[in-house]
Amino acid sequence: MKFNTKTIHGKQHPDKAYGSVMPPIYQTSTYAQSTPGGHQGYEYSRSSNPTRHALEQSLASIENGGYGLAFGSGLAAIDAVMKLLKPGDEVISTNDLYGGTYRLFTKIFEGFGIKFHFVGMSNAENIEHFVNKNTKLIWVETPTNPMMSIIDIKKCVVIAQKYKVLLAVDNTFATPYLQQPLNLGADIVMHSATKYIGGHSDLVMGALIVKDKELAKRLYFIQNASGAICGPQDSFLALRGIKTLHVRMQRHCENGKAVAHFLRSHSKVDKVYWPGFKDHPNYDIAKEQMTDFGGMISFSTKEDSLQGAVSVVNKLRIFTLAESLGGVESLAGHPATMTHASIPKKEREKIGVKDSLIRLSVGIEDQEDLINDLRQAID
Ligand SMILES: *Cc1c(COP(=O)(O)O)cnc(C)c1O
Repeated sequence: MKFNTKTIHGKQHPDKAYGSVMPPIYQTSTYAQSTPGGHQGYEYSRSSNPTRHALEQSLASIENGGYGLAFGSGLAAIDAVMKLLKPGDEVISTNDLYGGTYRLFTKIFEGFGIKFHFVGMSNAENIEHFVNKNTKLIWVETPTNPMMSIIDIKKCVVIAQKYKVLLAVDNTFATPYLQQPLNLGADIVMHSATKYIGGHSDLVMGALIVKDKELAKRLYFIQNASGAICGPQDSFLALRGIKTLHVRMQRHCENGKAVAHFLRSHSKVDKVYWPGFKDHPNYDIAKEQMTDFGGMISFSTKEDSLQGAVSVVNKLRIFTLAESLGGVESLAGHPATMTHASIPKKEREKIGVKDSLIRLSVGIEDQEDLINDLRQAID
């Protein structure tokens, strides 16, 4: 089955009760047993629920993994991965990281005795300098947020396998439409399904997908034992979102390309960060490991000030000023005060997140409308 079919049919079956094509929303916490232990596969909805199970099967299918696990948020999914570790273990992580992930690592898990190294991974060789006998996990986010650097997943796989450590990839920005880390040899794919997977800005959810059965078992144990699951209603919405993922992504990519080129041609725009430019420092890797370049773009204006950026985002009419990304509607964000405010200013600026940076999640509206909106705001 090819990807565009998997989004709709991958590991999906009509419901057993009445043949409903979409799985019903099994809004129940528990399941009747005919005799102790006499159940039909479901006992309690923290452990498993038929609607969530249908979603988890779909997630496994679209990422080409064996097992999918859905959580109450992207951060809950990352939290579950971190619980594979013990005090004294070390993690090597991308430095240009989603702010909430950085906060979870440094403010929660450092306190539990896990050590993190934040490393620029555009040059994957950098990772090897930080590997030691305590290293257990390499955490990769690519394209990075908000600087849109690309990390070579295959090179990370070589290092992870050489030292026998797990490799996890946050695939939120790319989605399996653009990049499939498990196929390249990664152990864990993580999603904030809040973003492109759900695709309609109407839910908060996280996901993990793995190939290995033993690893799946350990993660399932954590999912059930810690309990950060998502509910049946949200599972239904996410499944509905996945059915159009390929169509939405195609349009996100087309619109993203048009907006990136427009921004670059504008006299008041300074830098534009988008991996589809031939002179992007990681263009060759992007071209090889992704099928297209996505709809996430960051840029700064020549005015180069906080006020300049604020005045642009305040003037936008179709782009909504909001946190988040990956929905059908176009959003604009100001990383320094919004998504990345939880990263100290000094750390933030080291990776290029200046006060003047604006991040766009280009939606699937009419291309001309989007460009005209940006033009009037920047002019
Ligand atoms: C949003 C996001 C997260 C966190 O996910 P939530 O669903 O908000 O908990 C993690 N990584 C990336 C890249 C994100 O964009």
